[in-house]
Amino acid sequence: MKPFCFADGKIIPIEEATIHPMDLAVIRGYGIFDFFRTVNYKPLFLEHYLDRFIASAAKTFIPLAYSREELRQIISDLIEKNDLKEGGLRMVLTGGISDNHFSPAKGKLFIFAESLIFPSQEKYEKGIKLLSLEYVRSIAEIKTTNYAYPVWHSVQWNEAGAEDVIYHMHGEISESSRSNIFIIKDGVVSTPEKHVLRGITRKHVIEIVGDVAIRPIYFEEMLEADEVFITSTTKILLPVTQVDNHLIGDGKVGNRSLEILEKFKDLANKLCY
Ligand code: PLP
Repeated sequence: MKPFCFADGKIIPIEEATIHPMDLAVIRGYGIFDFFRTVNYKPLFLEHYLDRFIASAAKTFIPLAYSREELRQIISDLIEKNDLKEGGLRMVLTGGISDNHFSPAKGKLFIFAESLIFPSQEKYEKGIKLLSLEYVRSIAEIKTTNYAYPVWHSVQWNEAGAEDVIYHMHGEISESSRSNIFIIKDGVVSTPEKHVLRGITRKHVIEIVGDVAIRPIYFEEMLEADEVFITSTTKILLPVTQVDNHLIGDGKVGNRSLEILEKFKDLANKLCY
């Protein structure tokens, strides 16, 4: 079955969706998006993702022509039409077609249904390697479609045999290309406060743990941590056992990380089954 998407105000086969070549999303890379999962046909934490998407539109000055209630309805129709039991939904709002080819205009809304492949079981069991790079995402708290640097950097981390990147600047770490980061030292769980996307997975991990220190984290602290993990919608929680050539802790996946992962899965199942 070919997937159906929402575009031009209706649900259509994805190959019929079009975008104007002068849309700011194409010529300036200006737009916003969000991405969430369905678990047992239910959009997990939908209201949190809608909060973030609506806030991203407002903060980037791109008018969103649909109300929260209308978005909920479109999402529900798309899940049904695509029979999306366990999958992903991507909402994209483009910068629009601008008279001067620069100022934000009336954006075009797309919502795509996608199949979702989690990282392999081996990565959860052995942990992953991150490559460190000096960079900080611009307007990191808004979920823009601008991933030019991370896409460019991906060639570098692949060549280094790493799964992804950890960004740092002036000695402080921020986040990975599409994930937030947490460290655990002497039982205390911490996550960076600034220059990060407020991840929906991060938010729920903070709630599950209960007493997370949200504060500046120095690069050296991460290297000396007992456990490190990254979080995102598409990975939930993935243990990090190596940064560059340095092993984290004893180089093995930590129990506390796995415990938090299990609690997250329990919460998702409780909400959706
Ligand atoms: N940080 C960045 C830069 C991201 O792009 C993402 C997700 O795509 C995240 C963090 C994790 O956010 P979430 O848990 O909402 O998927």
